[in-house]
Amino acid sequence: MADCKLTPGCLFFNDQMANMPGTAEIYKKKYCAGEYADCARYLVFQAIGRENVPKDLFPNQQEKIQLIIDRK
Ligand code: SF4
Repeated sequence: MADCKLTPGCLFFNDQMANMPGTAEIYKKKYCAGEYADCARYLVFQAIGRENVPKDLFPNQQEKIQLIIDRK
């Protein structure tokens, strides 16, 4: 699968999020360079736009997606 098209401006991919876990590289391999369609940040972007993706949302936090969309 191709790389995620959001990588240039993604806070997670560019290591600009606070409290980065040591597992960030694993997530980048899993999501950014592969299963980006399952990434929580990507899914929020698709649903309600980049400006509404929380700064601290991690790719594996799919359980937060609906809450974020509902709050919008
Ligand atoms: S964290 Fe998600 S939205 Fe950001 S570059 Fe990776 S796959 Fe794309």
